[in-house]
Amino acid sequence: MLTADCNGLRVDAATSPKGPAYSCPSCRQPVTLRKGAIKLAHFAHKPPTDCTWAKGETAAHRAAKVALRDAFRMMGYAADYEVEVLSIRGDRRADVLVTAPDGSQQWALEVQHTPILFPAIEARTQAYIAAQIPVLWLGILTEKMKADAEPTAGGVVIRQYTIRPWEKWAQALAFKELWFVDPEEETLWRGGFTDHMLYVESTTWYESGGVEQSAGGYSRRSARWRTLTLRGPYMAHQLTLGTKWRKPWSSSVFSLPGGRIASLTID
Ligand SMILES: [Zn+2]
Repeated sequence: MLTADCNGLRVDAATSPKGPAYSCPSCRQPVTLRKGAIKLAHFAHKPPTDCTWAKGETAAHRAAKVALRDAFRMMGYAADYEVEVLSIRGDRRADVLVTAPDGSQQWALEVQHTPILFPAIEARTQAYIAAQIPVLWLGILTEKMKADAEPTAGGVVIRQYTIRPWEKWAQALAFKELWFVDPEEETLWRGGFTDHMLYVESTTWYESGGVEQSAGGYSRRSARWRTLTLRGPYMAHQLTLGTKWRKPWSSSVFSLPGGRIASLTID
């Protein structure tokens, strides 16, 4: 995590010196300031811990939070990472909370990096809707994805992408798009998923009576893979953060809550 408490104040790892006693704002346990030449400055829990703030955080996730905060600050928004948002469902920590220059609107940016299931992402989204803070779920453009990406007109395409449950959910919520943040380049990509088709080769054989049989020769939808098309890269100043109204929707697999959600549009 990028923030901690020190003598009753919330402090940022980037601007904190080694020495003072720091504690986790959530579990109140002591945390260690880690500063090095390569990794971003951050605070770490002392193992073992079961604190939710410590769970599964990666260097890429921290870098994505910094990249988003900096990008929106440069555009004139107020933006902070790891902000606790009070909602009717209890405290929820936004990865990045963005506030319009005139203070009229706030948005939560959630960079999802660990596998979470449909009920968890639905409950978190509902909490933001209840708090009247529209939320935008974003993925991280990983090194693996960059390696798998083929250039195409206006962006890149990943032909065999194993879609995760939260991605299915978030792209459905956001009207079939899912934005990805590249923490290294500090850019954003607009993702869209389409079916990945597999070609079943045509084969012909003869039965014992000499009757010709054949099978295959058609395409079928892969259950495992999707094709992920990424448009970009975009700098934050090429984008506008707004809100969209979505109607509640449900299928046998998952439900989407109704309410105002955040949306990024290309200028
Ligand atoms: Zn903690």
